[in-house]
Amino acid sequence: MKTNECNIVQDLLPSYAEKLTSEDTNEYISKHLSECPTCSKIYEDLCNSTSSISDDKKFINYSKKFKFRFSILKWIIIILILIFLVTIIRKIVIIEDLNSKALEFANSSNYYSLYHQYNDDSLTIVESYNLDNKYYRTLKSVDKISGEITENIEEKYNGQTVETTIFDKSGNVLKSYTTTNINGIIPIEPKSYYLTFSTFAERLKTYIFCDIQETTFNGVECYRFTDLYNSQLGYNDYVYINKETGLPMRDCENSNDKYNSIREFYFEFNTVDEKTLEELFNK
Ligand SMILES: [Zn+2]
Repeated sequence: MKTNECNIVQDLLPSYAEKLTSEDTNEYISKHLSECPTCSKIYEDLCNSTSSISDDKKFINYSKKFKFRFSILKWIIIILILIFLVTIIRKIVIIEDLNSKALEFANSSNYYSLYHQYNDDSLTIVESYNLDNKYYRTLKSVDKISGEITENIEEKYNGQTVETTIFDKSGNVLKSYTTTNINGIIPIEPKSYYLTFSTFAERLKTYIFCDIQETTFNGVECYRFTDLYNSQLGYNDYVYINKETGLPMRDCENSNDKYNSIREFYFEFNTVDEKTLEELFNK
């Protein structure tokens, strides 16, 4: 039963479904729908399809939002990775630069070095004048509490033999002997602090875990390395490395509560001449 009225109502149904029709029209249509099963059925189908369209819209909106959020997350991750890479590259550049600077001094044949080692109860000082294959070295240990000298050794190496003299507390010669053994007082040589990390894996650990900060020590510009990887192992809490020379200036070993030592290094190059050495030898 399709009448002219049906045609009118069916034309109006889309607007009616979206509630765009006037109150009079609404009344007219609802009255017709209650009497006409054909139009009523069409209206029902229309309502279902409209709601499914709006569901589709919701889904599209939702996935747009999700895509937007995902792209933000993606960028955050990319930026974090970039920051991480830049940090590591900065450390690699700094350490490699310091290494190569220190290497220039590693084979130095004319240098003076002064070394202080502060322990809980003592201070050890090693002084060394080096010229070609000759050297003059002294080692002194002082008891921190009493202020007494507990160790006082002098070594003179003329290129062939070492003349070792051991002094007592008052500075009198305890004994003196000559050998060819140059392994007495441990030399404090100018060398790179990080060359000890020989393998790439070890260096990589250092690059990743250490923290590098610019600072000054005794008025000299340097880097302060906080070696997180090593400090976990319990030593080398920090080290100051001279920016210009790449050589260590100060480090701190802190293996446990009982043992705490600070070491300080000082180097001077091309200041030792034959005359200096001769005067020290004849002292
Ligand atoms: Zn109808």
